[in-house]
Formats: sequence, structure tokens, C-alpha cells
Amino acid sequence: MRKLLRTIFLVDLFEGLWVTFRSQHPKKIVTEQYPMHRPKVAERYRGAPRLNINPENGETLCISCDLCALACPEKLIVVGWVRNPETKRKDLVNFTFDTSRCMFCGLCEDACPVDALELTQDFELASYTREGQIWDRQMLEEGPRPTQYKS
Ligand code: SF4
Ligand code: SF4
Repeated sequence: MRKLLRTIFLVDLFEGLWVTFRSQHPKKIVTEQYPMHRPKVAERYRGAPRLNINPENGETLCISCDLCALACPEKLIVVGWVRNPETKRKDLVNFTFDTSRCMFCGLCEDACPVDALELTQDFELASYTREGQIWDRQMLEEGPRPTQYKS
């Protein structure tokens, strides 16, 4: 009988609506209005890779040692270099990083002896093509430039 009365008077429906409406107060809204408001990611978040440069002379910090490429379980980093006949050092020619295969484990940045490779807090890595997900040296040094929206 009780169940029948609940069905006739739509009690379950009104209980459900009450749950919905009591959460409508603006103070209770937790949805982030991305991309108008950008979320603050955790301090130790590992996102977009960056190849750091020396801020004083603009030269790369990378010494082309290849340790990051060797440490990567996915083998997605390729370091291109040539031997400088004058300095006898390796000069970095190119550096590619396939972000589509990366699992952001951080092993590559841990392996880098000079803190040249870093996984930053940038999280916008989407691209329209697979090729766009393979970042070259310029992209790695400049970093992603996502569209900034204003509310
Ligand atoms: S974060 Fe991990 S998977 Fe990604 S490049 Fe570095 S070592 Fe490879
Ligand atoms: S480990 Fe660091 S210094 Fe060595 S090739 Fe990778 S980014 Fe360059």
C-alpha cells in the first residue's frame, strides 16, 4: 500500500528533484569553467616536456648525452647531435619528443644530469594531427601556446 501511494504521488520523483535543487546554490557549484578559468594543477604534476635554455645566453642546456632517450621505456626521445671539431663537444642539432606515446613517468627528466629536460605543469597537449604531437627542438624550447580565453 505504501509503495502504491509513493507511486501515485510521484514521491520518488520529488525526492530526486529535491536532491537536485538543493545543490543549485551558486556556492555549491564546483564545475570549473575551463577554458575561461584555468585549473591550478598539483605542484608535482608532470605535463608538457620542455627543453630548458640558459636564460643568460639563450643556448640550450642540453649536452646531447642521450641519457634521457636511454632511460625512456617507450623510446620516444631522439637526440640529434654532431661533434664540434673545435670544442670536441657534441652540439645539439635536433631533439624530438613524441608526446602521443609519453606516459609522463618522469624517468627522462630524472636521468638528465643538467636539468635540461623537464616535465612542466602545462597540460594542454592536444593537436589535430598525429604529426603535431611530435615536438621538435623549437617547440620543446618555446613550449605550447594554448589560446587564452577571457571571461
Ligand atoms: S616521461 Fe617517461 S615515457 Fe615520457 S619521455 Fe620521459 S621517460 Fe619516456
Ligand atoms: S639527458 Fe638531458 S642533457 Fe642528456 S640528451 Fe637528454 S636532455 Fe640533453
